[in-house]
Amino acid sequence: MHKLKVGIYSLSSCEGCIVQILNLEERLLEVLNHVDLVECRVLGLKHDDEVDVAFVEGFVSSDEEATKIKEIRGRSRILIALGDCAYSGMRFVAKDFGTSTIRADPINMYVNVDYHLRGCPIDSEEFLSLISDLIHGKKFKESSKTVCSECILLENKCLLDKGFLCLGPITRGGCNAICIANNKGCFGCRGLGDDVNISAFIESLKSKGISIPSYLLGLLKGPGYGSSQNS
Ligand code: SF4
Ligand code: SF4
Ligand code: SF4
Repeated sequence: MHKLKVGIYSLSSCEGCIVQILNLEERLLEVLNHVDLVECRVLGLKHDDEVDVAFVEGFVSSDEEATKIKEIRGRSRILIALGDCAYSGMRFVAKDFGTSTIRADPINMYVNVDYHLRGCPIDSEEFLSLISDLIHGKKFKESSKTVCSECILLENKCLLDKGFLCLGPITRGGCNAICIANNKGCFGCRGLGDDVNISAFIESLKSKGISIPSYLLGLLKGPGYGSSQNS
């Protein structure tokens, strides 16, 4: 069987998504039986070859990185945005922490992206699912559930009912509601779910006396965070 030639590249990032992949340990070794990893800065691998699949972590913060992502696209058959930095330029986090003045462009401002893995960091199970599909020549399809659907199945106590903000009702699932399981509200790192009703969500927050963050009102005006779609 032809081994997929894979490169993992970093732009401006904390490399937390790559750490999620490395944390797979034995299961990553199983993946490596089926792929030929030719580039990964963290592992000291560097070959500027053409690749079947390029995983790109991080956002574009300079003209040099804009050139770099175009160059990577030029020698990749499939390009995957790895994590929230790459697919949304960390729009939510940048706003929440008041750092919206820094340049933090998502990579699809410069190149076509075939797939993206959501989250900050990515979910390692979802990475395995995607790479397995690619190894078998299949298209990857991400979860269409919201975080709420996963949270309810896990029988977590709802944070909204306790008066805390949680974006689970409008956020795409796939993370097994991990923040809620750790008693923290979802901050929406996986982007908007399909066909979510933001107005109704805002109304329900008001009815519970939870203050509405300004970025939620901003979402009513147009496409929100993580609006690009996996095919
Ligand atoms: S998405 Fe989050 S974990 Fe991944 S590189 Fe960006 S900041 Fe780090
Ligand atoms: S805690 Fe959040 S994700 Fe869980 S059910 Fe309530 S709103 Fe939904
Ligand atoms: S619960 Fe929300 S913030 Fe936490 S990982 Fe899932 S999508 Fe991201």
